[in-house]
Amino acid sequence: MTLNVLVVGAGMGGLTAALALQQAGHRVEVFDRVANLRPVGAAISVWSNGVKVLKALGVGDAVEQASGRMNEMAYLDKSGKPLTRFSLQPLYDEVGQRACPITRATLQSLLLDAVGQDNVTLGLACTDFETTDGGGVTAEFSDGSTRQTDLIVIADGTHSKLRERALGRPVRRRYCGYVNWNVRVAATPDLAPLDHWVQYVGDHQRVSMMPMSGDPATPEFYCFFDVPLPADTPNVPSSYRKELSRHFAGWAEPVQRLLDRFDPAAMARVEIHDIEPLETLIGEHAAILGDAAHGMAPDLGQGGCQAMEDAWVLARALDSAGGDVAKALKAYDEARAERVGEIVSRARKRAETTHGAEPAATRAWYAELAAEDGSHIMAGMRKTILGGPLG
Ligand SMILES: Cc1cc2nc3c(=O)[nH]c(=O)nc-3n(C[C@H](O)[C@H](O)[C@H](O)COP(=O)(O)OP(=O)(O)OC[C@H]3O[C@@H](n4cnc5c(N)ncnc54)[C@H](O)[C@@H]3O)c2cc1C
Repeated sequence: MTLNVLVVGAGMGGLTAALALQQAGHRVEVFDRVANLRPVGAAISVWSNGVKVLKALGVGDAVEQASGRMNEMAYLDKSGKPLTRFSLQPLYDEVGQRACPITRATLQSLLLDAVGQDNVTLGLACTDFETTDGGGVTAEFSDGSTRQTDLIVIADGTHSKLRERALGRPVRRRYCGYVNWNVRVAATPDLAPLDHWVQYVGDHQRVSMMPMSGDPATPEFYCFFDVPLPADTPNVPSSYRKELSRHFAGWAEPVQRLLDRFDPAAMARVEIHDIEPLETLIGEHAAILGDAAHGMAPDLGQGGCQAMEDAWVLARALDSAGGDVAKALKAYDEARAERVGEIVSRARKRAETTHGAEPAATRAWYAELAAEDGSHIMAGMRKTILGGPLG
C-alpha cells in the first residue's frame, strides 16, 4: 500500500530514509530548515554495514568509487613509536564489504541526487506536528503552512525538537568530555602512508589521519584532533592552530606537519555529545531516526551508519506490515531500539577510555594497543557490522 511520508531533515539519515521509502513505493517529501545543505564536518567513514545499505539502495557503488582506499590501520604513541599496525583486509573479507571514508559533501550530494532535488524542500522548518482524528499526522511549518501525512519520519538530528513531541518528554544531550577538530588535508607520505588509517594517541588525546579521497590525482586525508576539555570552552577559529599546537607540543613529526598544514577556515570544531539510549524510537504515526534517535559519540564511527540501517529497517517494516503503520512502527522499534542503544553505550565507553575519563583505563588501553595484532580491534568491528540488518 502506498503511503504519504513526510521526512523532516535532509541529512544522511533523512535522505537515506527517503530513498528507501521511495523505492518501497511510497510518496515521500523531505523538508530541511536550511536553505543550503552544507554538512558540518570534513568527512565520514561509512563502515561496511552502512555501505551495504547504500548498495542495496543503488548508491553504494558511487559512494565506493568516491571514497578513499583504507587498507591498513595503525596506532602510534605520541612520540611516533608504532604500537600496532595491521591489514583491514581480513575484516573486509569476513564481512563482505570494505569501509568507505568519504567527504560529507560528496555523500550528501549523491544521496540528494538519488532522492531527487524535486522531492526535497529547503529553507522550511517543521515546527510541530499532531495526530489527526482520521489517522495520520498534521505537520506544521515555519511559514505557517501545514501538511497532512500518513507517517512522519523525524530525522532532524541530535538537537531534535520533534522527538520530544513524539516521546512526550524532553531529551537532554550529554557532553562526552572532549572536543573534536576535523579537517581535510592533502595526503602526502610524509604525513602517513596513503592507504593507512593512522592514529597517534597519548595524554588522553588523539590525532587521526584517514585516507578519504577516491581520486588518486588528489588524495586527501580526513584528519581530526581530539582533546579532553571542559564544556563551553571558547571556539575561536583564528586560534585553532595556536591552540592545537599547544595541546600537541612535542608530538611526532607527522603531527607537527599536520599542525602546520591544515586550513583553520575549513576546520570544524565539535564539542562531542550523545543522548542516553531512548526506550522507544516511535510515537503515534512517527518514527525517530538517525541522530535524533541515537546521537552518539563518534568513537565507533557508527552514527551515520546506524541512521542508514534505521532507514532500511523502517522501509522493510512498512513492506511487511502491508500499510498498517502502527504495526510497522512497532516492528521498527523492536528491531532498532535495543541495537542502537547498545551502540550508543559502547561508543560512550570507547570515548571515555580514549579520552581519559578514568586515567588507569586509558593507560591500560595504551598497553593493550602495544600488544594488539589487530584481531581484537577487528573482532569488535565485525560484531558491529554483522549485527546490522544486512548481516
Ligand atoms: C566528529 C564526528 C565524526 C563522525 N564520524 C562518523 C563516522 O566516521 N561514521 C559514521 O557513521 N558517523 C559518524 N559521525 C556521526 C554522523 O555524523 C551522524 O550520525 C550523522 O550525520 C547523523 O545524520 P542525521 O541525518 O541523523 O542528522 P543531521 O546530519 O544532523 O541532519 C539533520 C538535518 O535536519 C535538519 N533539521 C533540523 N531541525 C529541523 C526542522 N525543525 N525542520 C526541518 N529540518 C530540520 C538540519 O538542518 C539537518 O540538515 C560523526 C559525528 C561527528 C560529530
